[in-house]
Amino acid sequence: MRFSALADASPVMIWMTDPDNRCYYFNQSWLTFTGKIFEEQAGSNWLTGVHAEDIKVFNNVAVTLKQKEKYTCEYRLMRYDGTYRSILEVGNPRFLPDGSFAGYIGSCMDITETKIAKTELANQTKELLRSNEELEQFAYVASHDLQEPLRMIISYVQIIQKNIEKKNTEGLSEFMNYVLEGTGRMQLLINDLLQFSRVTRRGNPFIAVDLNEILKISTTHLTARISENNATVTYDSMPKLKGDNFQLIRLFQNLIDNAIKFRAPNRQPEIKISVEERAEDFVFAIKDNGIGIEDKFYNRIFVIFQRLHTRNEYEGTGIGLAVCKKIVERHGGEIWVESKQNEGSTFFFTINK
Ligand code: ADP
Repeated sequence: MRFSALADASPVMIWMTDPDNRCYYFNQSWLTFTGKIFEEQAGSNWLTGVHAEDIKVFNNVAVTLKQKEKYTCEYRLMRYDGTYRSILEVGNPRFLPDGSFAGYIGSCMDITETKIAKTELANQTKELLRSNEELEQFAYVASHDLQEPLRMIISYVQIIQKNIEKKNTEGLSEFMNYVLEGTGRMQLLINDLLQFSRVTRRGNPFIAVDLNEILKISTTHLTARISENNATVTYDSMPKLKGDNFQLIRLFQNLIDNAIKFRAPNRQPEIKISVEERAEDFVFAIKDNGIGIEDKFYNRIFVIFQRLHTRNEYEGTGIGLAVCKKIVERHGGEIWVESKQNEGSTFFFTINK
C-alpha cells in the first residue's frame, strides 16, 4: 500500500511485471498519460499504444529480459490526446530474497520536449558554424578584392604626387583616369557587398507567389540580353509557392543572365527551365548550352567575388551566384551545379513547399 501511494505520487510512469513479463501494475501517472484504465493496459495490452515503427525496440528488449538484466530503451507511446510522445524507459529486474526472479519494475519519462530542444540546439549549432565559416570566407574574399583597386589607386596617386613635386604635368590626366577607374571599381564592389548583405537583412516577408509570373518578369528584365544574343529561353509550367517575390525574380534573373553571358561563341544560347516536384520541396533546373564549368570549380563559383574569367573576357564582379545562394538558403533550399565543359551547365536549386 505504501509503495502504491508513493508510486502514484510520482510524476514518472511506473509499472511492474510478473516473472512471465506480463504487466500487472501501472501507477497513476501511466494511466493519466495513456488515458486508459488498468484493464486496457494489463498484460501486453499496453503495447497497442506503442508506435508501429517502434515495436521492433521490444524485440531487442526481449533479449535482455531473458538475461534478467537492466535495460534502457526509447520508443513513441500514444498519449491520451492521440499524439505520440517520445518515452525513455528504464527496466530493472526484481529478485526475491531466495534469489528467484520476480519480474521487472520500470519507469518511463516523456522526453519529447528535451528531444526537440536537443535537435533544435544541434541545428542551431550547425547553422552557426556554417554562417561563421561563411563570414570568415566572406571577410577574407571581400577585403582581398577591395585591396586590388585600392592598390592601383595608391600607386597612381604616388606617381601623381611625385610628378607634381617635380612640376611635371605630363600624363597627369591619364594617371587620374586610372585613379578614377580604381575608385569606380571599388564603388561597384561595395555596392555589390551591400546588395549581398541585404538578402538577409532587408528581405521581404514570404507571400504566395506564382512562379510563372516571376519568370515572366525575370525574362522581361533580360529582354535586351536575350535579343542581343539571339537566345531562346523556355520554361515548364511553374508551381505556386511561398517566398520573397523580389528575391525569386532576382534568383531566376541572375541564373538566366549567366546562362546567356557564358554562352559558347559558336552556338545560339538555348536555356531550358524545368521543375520537379518532390515530397517536401521543388527542384528547379536552369540548363544552358554554354561554355560549361570544370568540376573543381563547382563550389568556388558560389563564393562572393569568385570568378573564373578576367573582366576582359566576361564583364561582372562575381556577386551573382553568391546572391543566388543566399536567396535559396533564405528559402530553406540548396543550390548546386552540374556541368560538362564546352557542352553546357545546369544550375539546380530547391525551394521548400
Ligand atoms: P559573374 O557573372 O559576375 O562573374 P557570378 O557569381 O554570377 O559572377 O558567377 C561566378 C562565375 O561562375 C562566373 O564568373 C563564371 O565563371 C561561372 N559561371 C556562372 N554561371 C555560369 C554558366 N551558366 N556557365 C558557365 N560558367 C558560369
